Amino acid sequence: MTTAGPDPAGDLAFIPLGGTGEIGMNLNVYRCDGKLLAIDCGIGFGGPENPEIEVMVPDPVWLAERRDRLVGLVITHAHEDHVGAVAHLWPMLRCPIYAGPFVTAVLRRKLGEAGLLGEAKIITVPLGGRLTLPNFDLEFLRVAHSVPEAQAVAIRTRHGIVVHTGDWKLDPEPLIGEPTDEAAFARLGEEGVLAMVCDSTNALVEGHSGSEAEVRRNLTAIIRSLKGRVAVSCFATNVARVESITRAAMAAGRQVALFGRSLRNAEAAARECGYLRDIPPYVPEEEAGFIPDDNLLLICTGSQGEPRSALAKIGADTHPQIALGEGDTVIFSSRMIPGNERGILLLQDQLARRGCKVMTADDHMVHVSGHPARDELKRLYQLVRPKYAVPVHGEWRHLSEHAALAKDLQAIPVLVEDGDVLQLAPGRPDVVEGVPTGRLAVDNGRLLPITGGVLAARKRMLFNGVVMASFAVDEAGRVLGTPQVSAPGLLDGDDHIGAQLAADLARAVGDLPSGLRREDDALREAARSVLRKAIGRRLRKRPNVEVHLLRV
Ligand SMILES: [Zn+2]
Ligand SMILES: [Zn+2]
Repeated sequence: MTTAGPDPAGDLAFIPLGGTGEIGMNLNVYRCDGKLLAIDCGIGFGGPENPEIEVMVPDPVWLAERRDRLVGLVITHAHEDHVGAVAHLWPMLRCPIYAGPFVTAVLRRKLGEAGLLGEAKIITVPLGGRLTLPNFDLEFLRVAHSVPEAQAVAIRTRHGIVVHTGDWKLDPEPLIGEPTDEAAFARLGEEGVLAMVCDSTNALVEGHSGSEAEVRRNLTAIIRSLKGRVAVSCFATNVARVESITRAAMAAGRQVALFGRSLRNAEAAARECGYLRDIPPYVPEEEAGFIPDDNLLLICTGSQGEPRSALAKIGADTHPQIALGEGDTVIFSSRMIPGNERGILLLQDQLARRGCKVMTADDHMVHVSGHPARDELKRLYQLVRPKYAVPVHGEWRHLSEHAALAKDLQAIPVLVEDGDVLQLAPGRPDVVEGVPTGRLAVDNGRLLPITGGVLAARKRMLFNGVVMASFAVDEAGRVLGTPQVSAPGLLDGDDHIGAQLAADLARAVGDLPSGLRREDDALREAARSVLRKAIGRRLRKRPNVEVHLLRV
């Protein structure tokens, strides 16, 4: 592993710094003759293994150390796992950002919230446009996905063409924007493609992902048949879905209100880019409650069970503006992102307990994936005919299944992990070195190493609690009064073990050699060690121990 030192000039390499593991966080780097190009910069969620962390970003240290060679950051589409980390990491990269109009509209809001709008430069590239950067000639290709204006990037270099697909699917009726530009992919195939770096999310799914148009038809029929209040939850940036739900509601004589900040942000970005043109303004949250039940539909955030979302508040009956109950219906027009299952099922259970009917994609066709199933992958390989296939965007089983499929389609698969430097040219592709990668937790605007002291301490506190002891000593180190020991999360205030620990502490300090008792640091450390042992003996736990010493 090297953190510095020269990069070999005269090659073309693909370096994933995030996006080939179980957690989203796409950050892809291409290196051509010493220059670097970054594609996407997304967040991931802590998940059940990291309950002390809500949001994570890739550690950009390797890239930041080479930012003088970084020619730009390209964003393929407006999903959080591709754009969510830009506002967190840009201060370390400080390079120009290139993106389509919808990404620009979404990103400007995020950079504005982070106070970076004046500093970070976004260059808006027209859809399907071209862009020449030092050593990289980029062509954007329109692809259908579950967000407006997703694009793949064809990277032309003197070593050959790499097609970076980003997230995509084939949908003849994506409802917003054009279908995937298959003709453009076919043209690249004619030109000759060295490698395709491609979406693996649904590599285990047979057949076709299905069309947004089918979802629109089904939602229209379902919503027309319902009585009472109806709430539908979906991803905020799926503008086609939001429009489908809105039209289905209007066709059923219902007015529509958006519940949740991310939905209102996405609506604003969509309208800014000319979408939702003939959709009337949404009913404000505070007015929704006055509309008769049979004439109201809510579109809500919270399809992943996010605790602070609108739907979570409705489920807990703590929403200040609206309540759902007996006779009402909640439709989850979404899939469960792995890791979120528990939260989602808990929310669905709460809603059912209130008397709501809960409908999901398990028993009704109210959602299609934005990622290619196997038939779509096959089609793209047949069009592009890359020499080498590099599966990304998935867990290992998705990547390896994708690799097997690519092999069947005459591409030579190469599997990589985050931090691998995959040299694509000259010569046969090979992982030639590893670079440091990692994850940083976003903690109230600060970035903390996942394995660092603060988060390790928080995790230990979560499972083993924390013990705080205060005691006063005189100049000679004799304990004055009774030490105070508290252990929130471990002991109740009146627990007799607290008093026992205090007595253990007083006794042990009294037994220390008098020289040691005169030194504050030594006395504190000795007290901590005494407490650790006493807690281990009495509670069989290894909590964080904090000692406050007062010398009077
Ligand atoms: Zn993605
Ligand atoms: Zn996506």
